[in-house]
Amino acid sequence: MIDWQIATVKAIKPETPEVKSFTLALPDWMKHRAGQHYDVRLTAEDGYQAQRSYSIASEPERAREIDLTIERLADGEVSTYFHDVLAVGDRVELRGPIGGYFVWEAALNAPLLLIAGGSGVVPLMSMLRHRRAARAINPTRLLFSSRTPDDAIYFDELEKLRAANDGLEIFYTFTRERPPEWKGYARRIDNAMLNEVAKPLGKSARVFICGPTALVENAANGLVQIGIKPNQIKTERFGPTGT
Ligand SMILES: Cc1cc2nc3c(=O)[nH]c(=O)nc-3n(C[C@H](O)[C@H](O)[C@H](O)COP(=O)(O)OP(=O)(O)OC[C@H]3O[C@@H](n4cnc5c(N)ncnc54)[C@H](O)[C@@H]3O)c2cc1C
Repeated sequence: MIDWQIATVKAIKPETPEVKSFTLALPDWMKHRAGQHYDVRLTAEDGYQAQRSYSIASEPERAREIDLTIERLADGEVSTYFHDVLAVGDRVELRGPIGGYFVWEAALNAPLLLIAGGSGVVPLMSMLRHRRAARAINPTRLLFSSRTPDDAIYFDELEKLRAANDGLEIFYTFTRERPPEWKGYARRIDNAMLNEVAKPLGKSARVFICGPTALVENAANGLVQIGIKPNQIKTERFGPTGT
């Protein structure tokens, strides 16, 4: 069992109106694999504890610190603490890295399909940052569903990664509001969309899907229906409801 350690908040970066990234310096840093997560534990003065999992957003190549990217849920216990209370210099208890299933290594070198809903993009961003740091050029496609353009986490960085022209293509779908004259997708992920995005990668593509439970299940079922083998599809569910 991995021990708890006390991290120090080094930086806080707003990503969208409801999402912030937290850079945490770790005294017992251990190299993670892209897709893994940490458990965070808050303890109140009366001893009450709340524990939640947060995916690592940063790439494994970055030593001694990690980024967590957390969406603020209005009635959430732990996410509101991060957003409303935690400040640079504060300390927070966590343990990790955890998880050996939902992980991707650049050395795999197969076509890669990443599908995200809302904050589900976080572990996939770790994979894309790792892919870039490792100079991988495997054909890769990200299908990213957000409610509105303002809610699209990491938008500027994703556009920079796309501009590197190293085999990464990005497809956004906006389910509630879209930019003026938007010609891209503007609906929930469906089989027609999955087919268009997945097909050029061929049947050998490795797939990672992360987000709210309903999105993850629909996308995984849809991909199986269009001929991708279930053992090539890995899923991570963040919560019961959401985007
Ligand atoms: C492996 C793993 C990795 C995760 N990584 C991330 C991450 O990188 N970033 C991130 O923001 N979250 C992530 N989550 C979700 C996170 O663990 C918490 O569930 C989330 O932050 C809510 O916690 P809370 O204490 O704020 O809300 P709670 O007090 O637990 O819940 C408040 C309300 O929100 C609902 N709810 C709980 N979770 C969600 C959710 N995910 N979406 C919508 N509604 C929800 C509850 O039903 C309840 O009504 C991850 C979850 C798992 C299992």
